[in-house]
Amino acid sequence: MERKQEEIEIKTAGPVLPGSVTIAMAKCGKPTCVCQTDPEKRHGPYYRWTGVVDGKRTTITITEKEASECRRRIKNWNRFQQKLTLIIKNAMSRAPWNDR
Ligand SMILES: [Zn+2]
Repeated sequence: MERKQEEIEIKTAGPVLPGSVTIAMAKCGKPTCVCQTDPEKRHGPYYRWTGVVDGKRTTITITEKEASECRRRIKNWNRFQQKLTLIIKNAMSRAPWNDR
């Protein structure tokens, strides 16, 4: 008995990007700089993307503009993964051994 296969479209909402974006304030190398003693006077913000490139965990310093584009793409990637999770769940419930 063949069960009717439900079609699930797998499409992204736009460009995707795995990984994450972090914002950090940092101290510089100058021993006399005010950033060394006052946490409020640290430099930045510095934007960074962290993810896997060629199988290696990588951090890339990015601009604020790139950071907001990265966030947009990461959101698309997360939505895509949520869809994929649903597809996998659906596939498991329809696995061949479930027809016994
Ligand atoms: Zn400094």
